[in-house]
Amino acid sequence: MTAAYDVVVVGSGSAGSTAAIAAARHGASVLLVEKLPFLGGTSTAVLDTFYGFYTPGSEAKKVVGGIADEVVAGLRRLGEVVERPNTYGAGTGVTYLAEHLKVVWEDLVTGSGAKVLLHAFVQDVEVSGGRVTGLVVATKAGLRRIEAKVVVDASGDADVCHFAGFGYELAGELAPAQTLTTTFRMTNVDVARRRQIAKDELHALMREAAESGEYDLPRREGSDHITPIGDMTATVMTRVEHVTRTDDGRIVNATDPEVLTRAEMEGRRQVLEYVRFLKDKVPGYEQAELVAMSTGIGLRETRRVYGDHRVTREEVLSATQFDDQIGLCGAPIEDHHGSTAGDGTGTTWVYLPDGQAVGIPLRSLVVRDSVNTLVAGRCFSATHDAHASIRSMAQCMAMGHAAGVAAALAVEKGGEVRDVAPGLVQDRLRADGAILEL
Ligand SMILES: Cc1cc2nc3c(=O)[nH]c(=O)nc-3n(C[C@H](O)[C@H](O)[C@H](O)COP(=O)(O)OP(=O)(O)OC[C@H]3O[C@@H](n4cnc5c(N)ncnc54)[C@H](O)[C@@H]3O)c2cc1C
Repeated sequence: MTAAYDVVVVGSGSAGSTAAIAAARHGASVLLVEKLPFLGGTSTAVLDTFYGFYTPGSEAKKVVGGIADEVVAGLRRLGEVVERPNTYGAGTGVTYLAEHLKVVWEDLVTGSGAKVLLHAFVQDVEVSGGRVTGLVVATKAGLRRIEAKVVVDASGDADVCHFAGFGYELAGELAPAQTLTTTFRMTNVDVARRRQIAKDELHALMREAAESGEYDLPRREGSDHITPIGDMTATVMTRVEHVTRTDDGRIVNATDPEVLTRAEMEGRRQVLEYVRFLKDKVPGYEQAELVAMSTGIGLRETRRVYGDHRVTREEVLSATQFDDQIGLCGAPIEDHHGSTAGDGTGTTWVYLPDGQAVGIPLRSLVVRDSVNTLVAGRCFSATHDAHASIRSMAQCMAMGHAAGVAAALAVEKGGEVRDVAPGLVQDRLRADGAILEL
């Protein structure tokens, strides 16, 4: 069975859902394909806080708007949304209830006219002369073939580019890869009591507990935070390494099914250990209970595609502006790597100049080896360091917005993404409320 659309978006995370909304609103027939039973990817399956909307530092400047603002407005209509300062200095976070966000994404995507296929795994790609001509999707009813004039790879893991044979860097190949995290939530927390100890004291308790030999806590600098539900907290605490080098020198990371399977189980094992630590040692958690683990382990980086431009560390730290920029990012380079000292540390933050933001060029969304494929979200074209800054969900939404607009415009050009004038994409984005310059 074959279906045909102007634009097919693979993956419905912050980038893919936004891309589908934008492409449909700009006139394309759109299908959004998602392997999970709900939309949102990491934004609903793992997390509950958008970072990247604002610059960190002395004055919070808003750097992302457009469809991303509609997402937050949709969340506010359903319940409380908490704006809170990031204790590590990544700027103001927007904390929501993930269950609400699942419905907000559905309303916005279906409201745009885009079609959705859930429980649908893109498992192969047909390519001819750099053009993706068809996608093979595994469904409960068997394999389906879907044709597209333009494809947006928003799978996070660059699955489309991988199956198509387009070039990418495997995380771990050129720089240490960011680690994985299974998040969890606890209720019945005495939040007022928990507030009596600061971040440094929490980390000291983690160190003490780990050094006592009674608790196995690989990361001793993780965080917990309040949520819209009064006595519920959410955490980013566990740490799972996923990169190994085989005897013949190949890098294997969490895109390998066996590695991913082991990582999922190790993540859940660690959750129970951190829960035990919190209840035993941290004020406010004495009566708390575990209510949820993330649907799957959180993947920070796995594959980063080679695009027409590759954003670098130097460009991020000097807040470079590009003629073809489609969004902004003021977030620091936040790198969660394993502890080389074996002491549970290993997360680093490197800041842009205060109040500044780097541009995200449209060329970093154009897949180098393809004529009709765009990429958006955490698999976009950037080095390890640049990616560690431009991966927050607000930036993923900005990239998705731009990729969707560019994809719809490319349909009018016979699917050739490079025939779309960046200025036209920028004009459409500004008209949609996106922020392209400070
Ligand atoms: C532990 C952790 C903590 C983080 N903390 C924060 C934070 O607090 N705030 C913040 O803003 N950012 C945070 N980040 C970064 C941010 O969450 C991600 O970079 C961002 O969500 C990525 O969005 P995305 O749309 O690119 O990819 P994803 O959200 O990963 O979406 C990809 C989607 O594609 C689907 N998919 C994949 N392959 C296929 C396939 N073959 N066929 C069909 N569907 C497929 C997946 O199921 C998924 O829904 C964190 C990341 C992690 C892992």
